[in-house]
Amino acid sequence: MKMSLDKKTIDRAARQMLERTRADGVKTVWDRLEAQQPQCGFGLLGICCRNCLQGPCRINPFGEPSRGVCGADADTIVARNLLRSVAGGTSAHVDHAYEVVEALDKIAKGQIDYQIQDEHKLKAIATKLGLETDQKDITTLAGEVAEKAFESFTNHTSETMGWLAAWAPQERIDTWGKLGVLPRNADREIREAMHQTTMGVDADPINLLLATVKQGLVDGFAGLKLATDIQDIIFGTPQPVKAETNLGVLKADHVNVVVHGHVPLLSEKIVEWCRRLEEEAKAAGAAGINVAGICCTGNEVLMRQGVPPATNFLGQELALATGAVDLMVVDAQCIMPSLINVAQCYHGEIVTTMPISKIPGAHHVPFTLEEADQQAREIVRRAINSFKKRDMNRVQIPEEKVPIVAGFSVEAIIGALAKINAEDPLKPLVESIKNGAILGAVGTVGCNNVKFTQDLVHVELVKQLIANDVLVVATGCSAHALGKAGLLHPDATKNVAGPGLRQVLTAVGEAAGLGEPLPPVLHMGSCVDNSRIGDLLIALADYLGVAVKDLPVAASAPEPQHEKALSIGTWAVAMGILTHVGLPPHVLGSATVSGALTGQPVESLLGGKFYVEADPVKAAEGLINHLKSKRKALGL
Ligand code: SF4
Ligand code: SF4
Repeated sequence: MKMSLDKKTIDRAARQMLERTRADGVKTVWDRLEAQQPQCGFGLLGICCRNCLQGPCRINPFGEPSRGVCGADADTIVARNLLRSVAGGTSAHVDHAYEVVEALDKIAKGQIDYQIQDEHKLKAIATKLGLETDQKDITTLAGEVAEKAFESFTNHTSETMGWLAAWAPQERIDTWGKLGVLPRNADREIREAMHQTTMGVDADPINLLLATVKQGLVDGFAGLKLATDIQDIIFGTPQPVKAETNLGVLKADHVNVVVHGHVPLLSEKIVEWCRRLEEEAKAAGAAGINVAGICCTGNEVLMRQGVPPATNFLGQELALATGAVDLMVVDAQCIMPSLINVAQCYHGEIVTTMPISKIPGAHHVPFTLEEADQQAREIVRRAINSFKKRDMNRVQIPEEKVPIVAGFSVEAIIGALAKINAEDPLKPLVESIKNGAILGAVGTVGCNNVKFTQDLVHVELVKQLIANDVLVVATGCSAHALGKAGLLHPDATKNVAGPGLRQVLTAVGEAAGLGEPLPPVLHMGSCVDNSRIGDLLIALADYLGVAVKDLPVAASAPEPQHEKALSIGTWAVAMGILTHVGLPPHVLGSATVSGALTGQPVESLLGGKFYVEADPVKAAEGLINHLKSKRKALGL
């Protein structure tokens, strides 16, 4: 049965484009989901294994066979599959972090044309790593920080990974140490996870789950935090910025360049060259060059450059369906191979840039740090040429665009709070939590998943939370969804937030001289910027003299799709945080594994656990009850 448009998305711009693709017979992700029905029950339960050539094996959840050819049972297979998925997500973030560290190292050696934008953050990080900062020039210090970062990826000792040792609270380090899950370095742990899950190695589901926790820690510290820290050093620490979001940010009379993917090394250069080649675009008949973002690289350039996000993960094909995107340049992660087919129908060139991320039919420009400017210039010139070939009669850009405020780094939040209390900036926030004006905080993160109505769970969940005085911080495609729904704007504080939250955000906004409240949802960035949420929680816990696990906070990935969402969620649980997911990973074929993740076993060891609920109103209720129970335990 065909899914109705209402079931596909709540985004009006997306609906308009879906009507267009349907009329034109162009397949999108929603059509392909329908074509996949019914999806394999064994896969959904996680009880199929093809880790060796004696397989594939599958377990009958109702009887025999109860073991694969080698003797692995459902618990082993489910736990092994989960560990591999989490290691997959972790590897993506660590590889991203490695690239930006490599850039910092090359900047220090004077080999590339990127600059250090935030010397203050460089020094702060160097100090935290125990490096001497006095009397050192910036490039020397940058080289030393890069060296320390490389050690968190690879070293030949059994010491705890440096980035974790420097930033994780001692209470957590002790907890993880007792469980034997402190990672040594990212490469070794990811390699070990692959080894551990090969045929005939680990059959113990609990041991496999502990290894999964270890992957979460690698993700959190050598992926998320390391990437964010180094990106801030190179590109600057974000400060609040005003922009607009949704497909209406595309401009019919401009060359439209869309940056899509995750790593800002490419997208920052593209943004720069879009500005520098304005005159060439005008000579080609355009009014200028308009650059817009999709997915997390969209978040990166939004926060630092004010580039408007066009849409989130599920909307990537629909951006092309406007017929107005002249070129979409991608790096890695969350890029649908189907972009080529949609571009072929409507217009626009797809340019891939990384050796590990190519798509048949796309033009490939191998992007290198050494020749970043030449390559970015070449890509933008291709966009100008593509504009010349655009059929204006086929351009159909939805009107929807919504104002947003984004870019709330921890430094920006503390800066705003300092306007109320310069001596003790966290005090106003902590007092508001203590006196109940703010009930607690929830971080909504992660993806769209086509199994949900696009953005619905994000938006309805968050409306409930803020109406109940819960402060929400958001990253990734969740932040895009909330932006499109108007929740990243001060008007939502006036119209949707509960009275306590409204009063606090209004007071901070006025003290900061904004002339309006802060938005009820603070946009904290991309998926790797989830580490900013971790930093804020660590600072709050430190201030209160309690553990992170005791704070009235929770995390939520309302519509998770990527393995990275699993690795981020695992990190959050390892930090001691209740983590809501709108649908479970493929673990339901093992009561041992699914029960441990969502119940007492994991909670008693780590303080956090997973909480699965697809209904946004029920999920909000569950999260609010959790915040209340944490408040009660703290005597608030
Ligand atoms: S590892 Fe075991 S369960 Fe997996 S495919 Fe091989 S024989 Fe089957
Ligand atoms: S939030 Fe999820 S879908 Fe969006 S860019 Fe990140 S991993 Fe991809």
